[in-house]
Amino acid sequence: MKFADLHIHTYFSDSTFSPEEVAARACECGLSGIAICDHDSIDGIAPCKEAAFPMSVEVIPGIELTVERQDAEIHILGYFIDPEAEWFRDKLREMQAFRIDRIHKMVEKLKNAGINVNAGDVFDLAGKGAVGRLHLAQAMLKTGKVNGFREAFGKYIGFAKPCYVSNARFSPKEAIEVLRKAGGVPVLAHPGIMHKDEYIPELIEYGLKGIEVYHTDHGASVVKHYEQFADRYGLLKTGGSDCHGMGKGKALIGTVRVPYDLVERLREQSEKSG
Ligand code: AMP
Ligand code: ZN
Ligand code: FE
Ligand code: FE
Repeated sequence: MKFADLHIHTYFSDSTFSPEEVAARACECGLSGIAICDHDSIDGIAPCKEAAFPMSVEVIPGIELTVERQDAEIHILGYFIDPEAEWFRDKLREMQAFRIDRIHKMVEKLKNAGINVNAGDVFDLAGKGAVGRLHLAQAMLKTGKVNGFREAFGKYIGFAKPCYVSNARFSPKEAIEVLRKAGGVPVLAHPGIMHKDEYIPELIEYGLKGIEVYHTDHGASVVKHYEQFADRYGLLKTGGSDCHGMGKGKALIGTVRVPYDLVERLREQSEKSG
């Protein structure tokens, strides 16, 4: 059987792994395919593809966008987006610039909350990647004022917490339209984290084609629930580890995998809409 891990980050967003390292590890754990789904960036795709090609690991171009509802943060994956589309690249550049601005705003809020994070440290942690809250949380830990990600997100920078600043640049409808226009198949990421099934039918109306049923943060009962949900609505059931390198403590690549057949279904879906 051939398997794929369809949700992997690189250091072009908030993973510590380079695209080359991702490729090597994918090969090591016997994967036939991986999808690179960085937050607001596609820069990891080409180098990963190049490194993975001699190892016969297919790299599916993907992305992870953030949208919001008043009481929920929603992540939407796009599979088989065209990484060469110039208008799309321009949009992503804008989004990355917005992310920089957002970090300055969050650093300011944290300062007012008594946590003095150096913005420069956050940007150093991000390196050439799209800067985000995982980098900010890492810099918060370094101050010694918070003792873990749980506290950093739970008390300060998690969705709707006092030092949170939104990163959502589109409405859910716009995000799905952008992904489709870029040739991508829109899939709802980790619905078990969002925990707001009532928003899914609306996303389906806009063109959502799948949900990420299998994910590191989904326990057995959550998986079962979303398998049934996907069947009820005729959605593809995707899955991936959401590996952030060592960014969240351990390398998860390959720990969540789906049969390779799913890659073909996503490809067909992308060709249909393209
Ligand atoms: P951003 O794209 O900057 O909003 O950051 C999103 C990333 O922050 C997610 O991909 C996770 O890596 C991380 N994140 C968000 N909420 C939490 C949380 N409660 N605990 C740990 N990591 C989180
Ligand atoms: Zn992330
Ligand atoms: Fe996510
Ligand atoms: Fe992710």
